[in-house]
Amino acid sequence: MMGHGSNGADHKKRLRPVLQLHSSGKEMIRIPKSIYLKMVEHAKKESPLECCGILGGKDHAVEKAFELQNVDQSSVRYAMAPQEQLKVFEEMEKDAMEMVAVYHSHTHTIPFPSDTDVKLAFYPEVSSIIISLKEKDPVVKAFRIGKEAIYLEEIEVIS
Ligand SMILES: [Zn+2]
Repeated sequence: MMGHGSNGADHKKRLRPVLQLHSSGKEMIRIPKSIYLKMVEHAKKESPLECCGILGGKDHAVEKAFELQNVDQSSVRYAMAPQEQLKVFEEMEKDAMEMVAVYHSHTHTIPFPSDTDVKLAFYPEVSSIIISLKEKDPVVKAFRIGKEAIYLEEIEVIS
């Protein structure tokens, strides 16, 4: 009686995570002002297409930004060029940095992870930064996207 017919097997569908404000106060990412501005500029430069990049550093403190190609060339989604991604990982390793965050832009929507963003978030310990260009002034938000929830993360811009 091992046949199919059980509905259970197909029920691995992921539930849409809910937003939770993290209260521990530990979930914070520190970004130097120059890198913060560079990210926003990158988003504006690629608009109306989404931009994407990687932030390297240590202990949630950003030290370096890597701009990557959005191979999807899309205004609603992004995919980082795999070859460039490899190069960035190599460079970060050489400088003893880790991937602190992945950033991308939303050129027409609010700075909140889309369903696709949630699906593609493989690293819950890595921040997902979204730069929204929906309003006149860009809005930048950081999240940790976990299996059960999306946590809003505080960004501290340091000089
Ligand atoms: Zn997105």
